[in-house]
Amino acid sequence: MKKLALHWKILIALTLGVLWAILSTVLQWNSFTINYISPWGTIFINLLKLIAIPLVLFSVIKGMMDLKDVGRLGRMGLKTLGAYLITTVFAVCLGLLAVNALKPGNAINQEQRVVNRMSYEIWLNETKQPTHDGLNFLDNPEYADLKEIASARLAELNDSELVQNNTTKVQAVKKTGPLQFLVDMVPSNIFLALNDTLMLQVIFFAIFFGVTLVLIPAEKASPVNAFIDGMNEVFLKMVDIIMTAAPYFVFCLMAGKMVEMAGTSLSAMVEVFKGLGAYMLVVIIALATMIVIVYPLLFALMAGRKRGFTIIESYVYLFRGIGPAQLLAFSTSSSAATLPVTMDCVYERLEVDEDVSSFVLPIGATVNMDGTSLYQAVAVVFLAQMHLVELDFTQQLTIVLTATLASIGSAAVPSAGLIMMMLVLESVGLPAAWIAIVFPVDRLLDMCRTVVNVTGDATVCSIIGTTEKQKANA
Ligand code: ASP
Repeated sequence: MKKLALHWKILIALTLGVLWAILSTVLQWNSFTINYISPWGTIFINLLKLIAIPLVLFSVIKGMMDLKDVGRLGRMGLKTLGAYLITTVFAVCLGLLAVNALKPGNAINQEQRVVNRMSYEIWLNETKQPTHDGLNFLDNPEYADLKEIASARLAELNDSELVQNNTTKVQAVKKTGPLQFLVDMVPSNIFLALNDTLMLQVIFFAIFFGVTLVLIPAEKASPVNAFIDGMNEVFLKMVDIIMTAAPYFVFCLMAGKMVEMAGTSLSAMVEVFKGLGAYMLVVIIALATMIVIVYPLLFALMAGRKRGFTIIESYVYLFRGIGPAQLLAFSTSSSAATLPVTMDCVYERLEVDEDVSSFVLPIGATVNMDGTSLYQAVAVVFLAQMHLVELDFTQQLTIVLTATLASIGSAAVPSAGLIMMMLVLESVGLPAAWIAIVFPVDRLLDMCRTVVNVTGDATVCSIIGTTEKQKANA
């Protein structure tokens, strides 16, 4: 395995992990896998998270130290946020296009959809809301015998643990004022921010600290500069050390997660996947379009060309560069845990200056989630389709807005996008409890959308890196 590139090693480990999980389920070795293999996966995620916050802290401060002019920071900040916003809105629109064209909701059998629709109407009655489309299945004598099944279905969704545990959390987010995000960004205690891994607060502090460091006399600043420099090197080296062992860890992580997903029966899992197969396929097609077409093209046109690459060269360069980060995003389902590796890949392999990558990537990991927003758009429309609810143009526009905001608000951890989807559902007058329907297949889609999230961050970062370099050379 020595000469094999890291991304190939991780890919092999990933495949072996999945094979192990299948074998383990068939041969009933699950308790061994869960007790002795899976913990190594958790240790891996802990290690990555352990370095993420100090790495961001020191590398952003270092970035600020190296930033010769502070005006550049403002320009880069605006460019970063603008680019992230554009790619997110684009991703939602692509998701909407795919789900409206391919209509995965129609793949559900008609009787099931009528029951679903009736359960939706019962929910509307209970919450005293009118129907948007004027249809009324509930009072149609033809379906009278399905009424009971429909109310049982609604009760089952409302009672699900997932919905019960997260409703109050999401309601609290909804009640906050328009400037709350700014308030949330400024920590009142930096140690608490570091403790709770509040990324944006850490970035805010690091920028403030770094800029102040530039403003104090050089002789006072120089020991601090040397300390920050050294610490930054230490954490970068830690990423390298962890990555050498990454293939083994990834095997354990995949084996453990897949066994957890399959439960004790492979056939039960296949059944769940069959019911939601069309939906999963649409999400995966749309996400793959982002990865295979949108980002590489964007990179080729806006960065590769400026570096003198042909389109093919740009493709190869981009995927070779961020391959390890993409595979880790897939294995961990967390952009935050992947961040140290994304930073390493973009800096070392895509040759983006550290002052750019250390600033643009941590912000991206927190606010830029193209995969999440795309997924939310597809899921909401699919859920409406399977309940025979037509969403009109205004409602679809609302989805563009709320899925963008919900993805910005999602934490960079597993399943965050699913929970925040409750807000998107509510914004178009649909029951938030519907998240329980897609929950059984969420982990797999989470893995895929996290790859898109990380690829989006890295692409935008290398584009900004290229344009900044050009400016500096001009
Ligand atoms: N797991 C995703 C991430 O970390 C967030 C989500 O969509 O749930 O990027």
